[in-house]
Amino acid sequence: MPFEKRYEAIRKSDPQMFDVLCNEERRQRGTLELIASENHVSRAVMEAAGSCLTNKYAEGYPGRRYYGGCQFVDQAETLALERLKQLFGADAANVQPHSGTQANTAVYMAVLQPGDTILSLDLAHGGHLTHGMKINISGLLYNIVHYGVDEKTERLDMGKIADLARQHKPKLIIAGASAYPRFMDFEAFAGVAREVGAVLMVDMAHIAGLVAAGEHPSPVPMSDFVTSTTHKTLRGPRGGLVLCKEQYAKTLNSRVFPGIQGGPLMHIIAAKAVAFGEALNEKFREYQKQVRRNAQALADALMSHGMRLVSGGTDTHLMLVDLRPSHPNLTGKVAEGWLECANIIVNKNMIPFDTRKPMETSGLRIGTPAVTTRGLKEAEMKTLAGLIAEIINSGGEDHLLTRVRAKVSEMCQQYPLAE
Ligand SMILES: *Cc1c(COP(=O)(O)O)cnc(C)c1O
Repeated sequence: MPFEKRYEAIRKSDPQMFDVLCNEERRQRGTLELIASENHVSRAVMEAAGSCLTNKYAEGYPGRRYYGGCQFVDQAETLALERLKQLFGADAANVQPHSGTQANTAVYMAVLQPGDTILSLDLAHGGHLTHGMKINISGLLYNIVHYGVDEKTERLDMGKIADLARQHKPKLIIAGASAYPRFMDFEAFAGVAREVGAVLMVDMAHIAGLVAAGEHPSPVPMSDFVTSTTHKTLRGPRGGLVLCKEQYAKTLNSRVFPGIQGGPLMHIIAAKAVAFGEALNEKFREYQKQVRRNAQALADALMSHGMRLVSGGTDTHLMLVDLRPSHPNLTGKVAEGWLECANIIVNKNMIPFDTRKPMETSGLRIGTPAVTTRGLKEAEMKTLAGLIAEIINSGGEDHLLTRVRAKVSEMCQQYPLAE
């Protein structure tokens, strides 16, 4: 069915919004999405997210709600919880956080008092704004100490992190990142946390899908809390989740609701359940393997075209291009714009020890989850790396952008998104 047909009611009632939705759907279908934090959900996830469950208030938890008529949404949330715990082998879980940010905030509220110390990865080295940015709630309420990557290896140095922990005695240590291309040693983090008596939270927002498929070491056994988004590699609806050890479950639940949220988004929880069901399937394991194979192929090909990657490559679904050595005068912002003109979507990103501002940057972050969902494989990664290199080397030359755009359109037609 042509996708316009899915928006029949909107077409009739709200032509302006109909145009917006169709344009966005056309954009998604006609561009190659290399933003590492995005993906394309299945039609099944989309249906659940667009279902009548959006009508339902369900403050509370399954079996203990503040509203009547919750028998079926209780089943939806219970399915989500059971599948999630099975997927990651977790003791306890909460699927109500509206986003990754809410998930993290709920954990902070569960274990910290204002003024307590958090040790986390620096935003400029790949951390997330919820890990202590000055004007995020984390930075406003808590005392933040950051660790960074080593200047030479561009990897975490667990010795230095342990030293910082001994020196600052944080109440909470956070491991996890938005732009770190290497595996993290969660076992080592747990050892540091144990030594200084800190609680360990791993924010696996980016890598959750890899972890679920056994393509990344799991942080679940050794962490007190594991938080995640559901919409990145995990390929579910936009949202958050928390896993924790049983001893924290009651407090955590009460911090999510009524601590920082009111009614849960039951349609999104149903969509999470559908996505977790998909992630339990063997096909999802194969998908995640391909995500990593594609990242490897893309990284190797980009480097063969003379681009420098932070840390020299990737273990995961993403890589960071350092533009400085090959193109000292080019910012991530400008490169992002050129690539977008050719229907290749990436995001500018700070690289460790970047001297440019966050709105300019010297780097690009590139990830393979979304193009792998479309069915692209290693051969297409090689092609794509060639196109990216050509654009960047050409200085954004107009004719080239037009030619690459045509080539990308062809690839999009050859590997269409599921109807
Ligand atoms: C994406 C991300 C989040 C937050 O997700 P939102 O749903 O946008 O709030 C949190 N932590 C990390 C490491 C992330 O990459």
